[in-house]
Amino acid sequence: MFSLKFGGTSMGNSEAISQTAQIIISHPEPNKVVTVSAMSGVTNLLISAANCATETNKICYKNYLQEIQDKHLTALKKLVNNTDLYRTGEEFITKKISGLSGFLHALTIIGEVSPRSNDEIVSLGEILSAKLLSLHLQDLGEKSDFINLENIVSKMFDKDHTEANKEFFECFAHKLEKLLTPLLEKNITPICTGFFGKIPGGIVATVGRGYSDFTAALIGKACNAKEIQIWTDVNGILSTDPRIVPEAHVIEELSFDEATELANLGAKVIHPQTIWPAVKNNILVRIKNTMSPLDAGTAITKEGKLSTHSFKSITIQKDITIITVRSTTMTESGVLGELFQEFANHKVSIDLVSTSESSISVTIQNENKNKNLQQLITQLEKKFIVNRENNNTIIAIIGNEMRENIGVAGRFLSALSDHKINVRMISQGANQSNISAVISQKDSKNAVQAVHKKFFRI
Ligand code: ASP
Ligand code: MG
Repeated sequence: MFSLKFGGTSMGNSEAISQTAQIIISHPEPNKVVTVSAMSGVTNLLISAANCATETNKICYKNYLQEIQDKHLTALKKLVNNTDLYRTGEEFITKKISGLSGFLHALTIIGEVSPRSNDEIVSLGEILSAKLLSLHLQDLGEKSDFINLENIVSKMFDKDHTEANKEFFECFAHKLEKLLTPLLEKNITPICTGFFGKIPGGIVATVGRGYSDFTAALIGKACNAKEIQIWTDVNGILSTDPRIVPEAHVIEELSFDEATELANLGAKVIHPQTIWPAVKNNILVRIKNTMSPLDAGTAITKEGKLSTHSFKSITIQKDITIITVRSTTMTESGVLGELFQEFANHKVSIDLVSTSESSISVTIQNENKNKNLQQLITQLEKKFIVNRENNNTIIAIIGNEMRENIGVAGRFLSALSDHKINVRMISQGANQSNISAVISQKDSKNAVQAVHKKFFRI
């Protein structure tokens, strides 16, 4: 079987959903399980509605719900001709919206959103989009079933698991297999919600936004898929962000390791968690463009393939803070251990590290979201001199080609210095397939363009 995932833009409006349905119907693989994201923009609207209900002008959540309802009803009208199916859809959408309206009304009184409530709210996006697609397929005479994965999770986990760790996901995959196999045997295409929700800690808080990729990967693992296909709005994984370098090219094939590095270092095309379920069962992951289905896309495989370039891709991560800690005792034994323990105590995770005799600099992601950071700094200041610099970017080059090529680091740094871009920190990944440099955020665009031009001559 194949596990196919369609992202928000592939579900963005009736035309996109109809194109998605055509890809499913004409797919050469007979056995498919489909996973969908919410229609594009809907998850953000849901989060805004929740914020509205708890923080600001409480009533405005109703406007967001109206917008979501209209968006789905408009698409339903264009996608479903059969009167009974249309009525089913209309009733489903309006009931779900009014249910959420009641939930948000309760939140206006409670005044805060717990991770669980947040999940409950966000879940609606995928519930509505999956229902819409399955009704459209049924309207076209296809055998398809709407599957709300949230239901199996909530039945399974409350009593058995307290943490969303790998063991938890293995167990989830097992349940998925039991649920989906009988449908595939009957030639029914399940249309699953990318949201599988009520996991310990909440899906948005633990897996993060873009979780539907991970759902499709878990389904692929559960049903031992031949391929996991992530259908999106670009032609695959590119050599860099095409909004910065319009000439960025598609990478034909990369390894699981490279894809993991790329996703973790800021490439937005796939969720970082997508890869491990594929690695476990050695399943090929392919990124494809819904609007251009004949393009080969990017294949992610165990071994990958070396390109003719010095590396494969350039990524950037913005909103990086550098914390520099100085002490005359830095090199004494145990000092670094003590220092890192403080970071762990405050649950602040570190990305890059560079050290000298008397100081150590580390980078932290998402400076503004890291609520514990100021507390950590106050604690560290009791023993060390601490300096915090916001508004930095990590620019990274990634690719196994680097292991064999001489002088890549030098050329990378000279591309930056040629454009008078100051490098604050440098780090080479332990696997020798990535090099990262920390630069000022204002230089991000220039830096990416300069490096892309130097290495890819475009
Ligand atoms: N709709 C969710 C989000 O925007 C999940 C997904 O698209 O994968 O984060
Ligand atoms: Mg995504």
